[in-house]
Amino acid sequence: MTGLVIRNARCVATLDGARRELSGGWVAITDGLIEAVGVGEPPVATDTIDATDCLVTPGLINAHHHLYQNLTRAFPPMTDKPLFGWLQSLYPLWAAIDTESVYVSTWVGLAELAMSGCTTSADHLYLHPRGAGDLLTAEIEAARDLGVRFHPTRGSMSLSEKDGGLPPDNVVDDDDSILAASEAAVERHHDRSWGAMTRVALAPCSPFSVTEDLMVRTAELAERLDVRLHTHFAENAEDNEFSLATFGCRPMEYLERTGWASDRTWVAHCVMPNADEIVRLGAAGVGVAHCPSSNLILASGISPVVDLRAAGVHVGLGVDGSSSADSASLWLEARQAMLLAKLRNGVAAGTARMALEIATLGGAACLGRTGELGVIEPGAAGDVAVWSLTGPSFAGALADPVEAWLRCGPTGARDTIVQGRPVVRGGVLVSSRLDQMLVAHDGMARRIQQLG
Ligand SMILES: [Zn+2]
Repeated sequence: MTGLVIRNARCVATLDGARRELSGGWVAITDGLIEAVGVGEPPVATDTIDATDCLVTPGLINAHHHLYQNLTRAFPPMTDKPLFGWLQSLYPLWAAIDTESVYVSTWVGLAELAMSGCTTSADHLYLHPRGAGDLLTAEIEAARDLGVRFHPTRGSMSLSEKDGGLPPDNVVDDDDSILAASEAAVERHHDRSWGAMTRVALAPCSPFSVTEDLMVRTAELAERLDVRLHTHFAENAEDNEFSLATFGCRPMEYLERTGWASDRTWVAHCVMPNADEIVRLGAAGVGVAHCPSSNLILASGISPVVDLRAAGVHVGLGVDGSSSADSASLWLEARQAMLLAKLRNGVAAGTARMALEIATLGGAACLGRTGELGVIEPGAAGDVAVWSLTGPSFAGALADPVEAWLRCGPTGARDTIVQGRPVVRGGVLVSSRLDQMLVAHDGMARRIQQLG
């Protein structure tokens, strides 16, 4: 028997190959996978969600985040500095994270994301202070307990201030230890099965915080283990200048010479590629996690998303860390992506459908899960978001439910379904642990912020 049916939708935006949008549509999910999608009378199911006056989309996919950073949100002395100065102000605070604070900040961060319709999130955990314990396992346990699909990346930093990098000594490690820990993390947690809830990627933090040798050896390890690669890339003008001054080349050439220019790689930000680099990124099959709010708050610039997509780059969406973007709503990022594309490339270039594609199909491609995530079609993962199109903000929005979704704004999902199981229902988190986790988070954030 069918496990869950979502029925009577005003529109089901499938994001399938034909981009079908089904008025009066339904979605059936069984054993964690989409069983069928259609119009008319759905199959009988154990559980039913009525989606009258709702838009149903694939669950949104967050392709870039630093979940622990919600412990230092909107931290006043740091909000007026661009990227490099901002990072150097915060490293000493972040050095105090441990397994408990990573568990709690991950749980709270993923809960926040789920309430904005996100069913799968990546996390770039590049900070592993000495003696802090197994932080990657802590965050994987939090995602598992909450029920959100998770792509943690085993990040790293190996180039400290004394060696010409950005971070302080106590948060960097040597290359051999990093590679051994990366391999151990993949062996322990990486699930290759269809519909997997946990997959691990390898993720040196950024060219300005790791050695070139670590970039090369990490790419070789990812190839051997058959896992994906992630890092920050061409994030702002400072980042490009650092690349030229330190490596004698622009960021794309650095990716190429370290073995990263491949379809195994997705990078975050990509604000400052030149026209030639855009073509080379597309030809190499590299994915890009577009982080519009973070790029705006740090005044980094506007990523050329429309041009990247035209060049064949798989563009996904990321909320980025909560210390730079502060809000971690994937719906909001989708709206920002739509607005910025209009501003940069003209009104017609930035549509709600483009933003929805980036937030679903694009994210799935970044994470190497095309056909499995980000689409509502039989066999895909049972990850769905249900958005209410009612209330004052939708009064008069009759013509186009997809454009209305991003222009008028439900801002939060009514129901968020992961693997056929509701994580958010009626706009409320299903787990009863939220209050308890927020109290714990408050205590940890206070402890860490006192270090500033
Ligand atoms: Zn980032």
